[in-house]
Amino acid sequence: MINILKEYSFDDFYYKVLNNEKITKNHYLKYLKPEYLSILSYIANEIKNRYHGNSAYFIINKHINYTNICINRCKLCSFYSRGSDSYTYDVKKILEKINLYYRRYNIREVHIVGGLNPSLEFEYYETLLREIKKRFPNLIIKAFSAVEIDFISKKFGMSYKETLLRLKDAGLDIIPGGGAEILDDNIRKKICPNKINSDTWLEIHETAHRLGIKSNATMLYGHVEEIHHRIDHLLKLKKLQEKTNGFITFLPLKFKPEGTEIKVKETTLYDDLFTIAISRIVLNNFKNITAYWITLGLETSKFSLYYGANDLGGSVYNEYIIKNKVKNYIHREEFINIIKDLGLKPIERDSYFNVIKIY
Ligand code: SF4
Repeated sequence: MINILKEYSFDDFYYKVLNNEKITKNHYLKYLKPEYLSILSYIANEIKNRYHGNSAYFIINKHINYTNICINRCKLCSFYSRGSDSYTYDVKKILEKINLYYRRYNIREVHIVGGLNPSLEFEYYETLLREIKKRFPNLIIKAFSAVEIDFISKKFGMSYKETLLRLKDAGLDIIPGGGAEILDDNIRKKICPNKINSDTWLEIHETAHRLGIKSNATMLYGHVEEIHHRIDHLLKLKKLQEKTNGFITFLPLKFKPEGTEIKVKETTLYDDLFTIAISRIVLNNFKNITAYWITLGLETSKFSLYYGANDLGGSVYNEYIIKNKVKNYIHREEFINIIKDLGLKPIERDSYFNVIKIY
């Protein structure tokens, strides 16, 4: 391996990555290439091991997609209602769903995202958060992506800061990472022309971090972007993390074309693992990389734990945004068995990666 490193002048790169030294964008572009995956996976795994050793994490959570009505109608989306299938859950129905899973599975987090539905009043969002906190005070609420925060702010004539403060006061704990897609405005025009631009996504997360609201970050890959767009995206996240340290975890999201207007083939296992590895390498100031099984598939997620990821994400319990998936939930025992079978130590975590239980 040393010869290969020298041949490609990889040794300096390797040293700098592991010593957390500054690396230029050109160096990332030069060395983060699919043909180097075997070496990149070694580096990524080394970074993962420094943070987490042989631990692998999961969380027991419940996803709620409160409405599929959305004015944005993004080309990349298979979730928004195109006709008679539209729905919006009222607060009572959402509380009933949470109650069921809270009692049955002892969920630790509720993850709430939905479309941009113009018929919802601000009271809906506030009441929803307040009622969840009142009835389930131990439950962490991760809700409303930056896209929804922008929509709510504009609709009700508030700044991002004001909106976030009101939602925080009502019970919002964490903002999910959705809506980042690829932080490149030319690509965004092709896949989601009506969605907030890259700077706005970053601004909303920065505002949240400064208000003490942690968030996650994502990257939707495998549509019309190229590898340099992915690297650029990761570098933008890394820069914001340097400023605020407000991101908890990063989730690369594999694009699922079925039901969308973007006609491409799904990415290969090789590309998925490459993306996990480069995410772990570039984002060495993120403590956590999540292999989100609902888009990657369970088998790829398992492999990902040896390519730099340290987390499998949540039990989910019914999510409707991603089509064409084999499973819609994973129970606690299944997570534990999967991780043990891989020779790793299962850790049940909360939304902040605090340890709840080591199995
Ligand atoms: S991706 Fe989000 S913003 Fe775009 S149409 Fe779907 S629900 Fe709406």
